[in-house]
Amino acid sequence: MNFDLSEEQQLLKKTVREFAQAEVAPHAFAWDEAQDFPRQIFTKLGELGLMGVCWPAEYGGSGMTTLDWAIVMEELARADAGVALSLAAHHSLCSGHIFLAGSEEQKKKYLTPLATGEKVGCWGLTENSAGSDAGGTKTTAVRDGAQWVLNGSKTFITNGRVADTAVVMAVTDKAKGKKGISAFVVERGTAGFRAGKKENKLGVRSSDTSELILEDCRIPAENLLGREGNGFVDTLRILDRGRIGIAAWSLGIAQASLEVATSYALGRKQFGHAIAEFQAVQFKIAEMAMKVDAAQLLIWRAASLRDSGREHTVQSSMAKLFAGEAAVEIALEALQIHGGYGYVKEYPVERYLRDSKLGTIGEGTSEVQKLVIARGLLGLKGMVR
Ligand SMILES: Cc1cc2nc3c(=O)[nH]c(=O)nc-3n(C[C@H](O)[C@H](O)[C@H](O)COP(=O)(O)OP(=O)(O)OC[C@H]3O[C@@H](n4cnc5c(N)ncnc54)[C@H](O)[C@@H]3O)c2cc1C
Repeated sequence: MNFDLSEEQQLLKKTVREFAQAEVAPHAFAWDEAQDFPRQIFTKLGELGLMGVCWPAEYGGSGMTTLDWAIVMEELARADAGVALSLAAHHSLCSGHIFLAGSEEQKKKYLTPLATGEKVGCWGLTENSAGSDAGGTKTTAVRDGAQWVLNGSKTFITNGRVADTAVVMAVTDKAKGKKGISAFVVERGTAGFRAGKKENKLGVRSSDTSELILEDCRIPAENLLGREGNGFVDTLRILDRGRIGIAAWSLGIAQASLEVATSYALGRKQFGHAIAEFQAVQFKIAEMAMKVDAAQLLIWRAASLRDSGREHTVQSSMAKLFAGEAAVEIALEALQIHGGYGYVKEYPVERYLRDSKLGTIGEGTSEVQKLVIARGLLGLKGMVR
């Protein structure tokens, strides 16, 4: 067993960290304040080959592993979790769906410009009344000759207002329940397709989140992605990788929180001593560091299983559940170590806390992860998101 990253992985980590420190971190406060999505960063990420980390070179990607992807997520989220979340939705969800289910022609047409950063993608599963219970999808797609006609709306869609390419789930056969949900590619500019309300969020405010609205939206028959009725089944497979990325995203925030807390504790003096000398503060740092390491190991295990082609649904959910919850706890303790200074925007730790909470909600809540883990271990059937 080897717990070290390879030389290539260490270089990747260093490269992403340097990029994030130079181009992303200095602006994170302003983007958060303004709720501004920095599209230009995606162009730069594309130049670095980070918009299509896991996709083969023939589709404009970098051909890297899931472990590499986790490294990218961790380092980017350490600087700005909003930017990293937008990349996660673009890469693992939208592009991931096209890579998994798309025909050769669809991959060439849609995946390549996404992988190079020429285009931005979004992925629409969630609806007003279909969140954890995504099988309750109400958006419909009805075949009309050589076209599909889509009607409905999607809620909380990352990159909704900025994406060029959307993958959306819609019901094609209501009688078949979850097996009657199909996936479609819808391009920006298609008549009857628009972004709706932009959400005003607690955290990840540099990430665009909005509704998608489909009103008699006609798309060519060939925009069906994967087999008809397989949209939800494919979604579960896509989330297996997605959750490893979101776990690494949480880890990046946790890591940043631990770093600022450690440095603050060493510098802040009370009662004539650095607060780092007080055992109560040391205990917090020790527990935070232990959780960061435990999350890291769960993420690496899930990614390694995936990269070696082994079953990893339970392990992905364990990594996401643990890292997501740990990041909130660690950010909260980091804020406590900062005292009143943690509560004001002069220090980044309050942003880390706000951002971290999404890791317990997005791509399946913590409760849903527990269902996935328990059902996997108990061998119970039933498709849980
Ligand atoms: C910033 C942001 C970005 C997002 N990006 C995207 C995106 O790009 N694409 C997309 O499709 N979606 C996206 N989502 C949606 C996200 O995946 C959902 O919010 C999430 O799956 C939960 O659904 P919900 O909000 O409807 O909550 P609900 O499903 O209504 O859950 C409410 C509460 O009930 C609990 N609960 C529900 N069912 C059960 C159960 N069976 N057992 C126990 N507890 C249960 C939940 O855990 C939660 O605590 C995003 C959300 C946010 C906030």
